[in-house]
Amino acid sequence: LLAGAGKSGVASYHPVLDQQSLRRLQLGTELEQAMADGDISVVFQPIIDARTSDIVSVETLVRWAHPRYGAIAPDEFIHLAEQIGRIGPLTDHVLDLALARCRRWLDQDIALSVAVNLSARCLTEPDLVDRVRRALRRHGVPGELLTLELTEGSVVDDSVRSSTVLADLHALGMRLSMDDFGTGYSSLSQLRQLPIDEVKIDKSFVLGMSTSQGESFIARSIIELAHNLGLRVVAEGVEDELTRNLLAEMGCDKLQGFLVSRPLPDQRLESWILARTGVRSAVAGTPHRRL
Ligand code: C2E
Ligand code: MG
Ligand code: MG
Ligand code: MG
Repeated sequence: LLAGAGKSGVASYHPVLDQQSLRRLQLGTELEQAMADGDISVVFQPIIDARTSDIVSVETLVRWAHPRYGAIAPDEFIHLAEQIGRIGPLTDHVLDLALARCRRWLDQDIALSVAVNLSARCLTEPDLVDRVRRALRRHGVPGELLTLELTEGSVVDDSVRSSTVLADLHALGMRLSMDDFGTGYSSLSQLRQLPIDEVKIDKSFVLGMSTSQGESFIARSIIELAHNLGLRVVAEGVEDELTRNLLAEMGCDKLQGFLVSRPLPDQRLESWILARTGVRSAVAGTPHRRL
């Protein structure tokens, strides 16, 4: 497919669809069917208590096993789903898979809290709170076991509207987590005005901690300030022992990263949990279950 040649007579060929655009177009049209076919699934990455190393929750991460392209990373199709207006159904699909698992763990007496990423776009959907409420009810999962991870931009761009949505979600018992913290524009004082419970230090800082004093200083500052505002802190991207020890010494509350575990498919998560010493309930008052 070529755009027309210029009037000058010099042919200027503008391929209308390059390989990448073609792929995007295909993925966009296939998204819905891929969900129906089970090609879009989720994996779970453990998050542990920095002091006790008990598993406290898992983050749900979406995966697309494409029949022709193989594994496609969320960084490629989340943005696409947003652009074509399909992020709502995709979020519902992920939420459904996450809550179904959470329910099954509950049936095994494991009160494991599950985190789901919420795209910026979702906060502007007028029926978001209703959909989340219905999903919790459908699966019989208490709101207290669900954490929603938001990115800074989503909250700051439209802070008035999103603060109402966040307040409604919070009222359902959910925990709200500010993801990729430190990369966006929000300040900790803005966080104080929103019903946010925890921040996740972006992995770009955490990955640099073992080699750079600057990154360590940023992590330490985020932890101290967040604690002063009464927020919990999770570090994502913990890959080595040195970083883990530094974060623990800084008082970071929870750790997530390849050092602890890669994101795991459901079955492997269960064996991973069983191989550990304990599961500590993330919900106050829920009986403690040791495995
Ligand atoms: P995120 O929410 O910040 O998730 C953490 C990402 O860091 C995940 O990448 C995870 O696999 C990766 N990660 C975890 N530990 C380590 C580590 O130690 N080292 C390194 N290098 N990476 C680590 P993933 O699964 O590719 O997801 C990328 C992003 O896509 C997520 O970043 C999130 O923003 C988005 N995403 C994933 N699933 C969903 C979803 O269901 N809905 C939405 N809206 N976004 C999602
Ligand atoms: Mg996240
Ligand atoms: Mg993150
Ligand atoms: Mg990220």
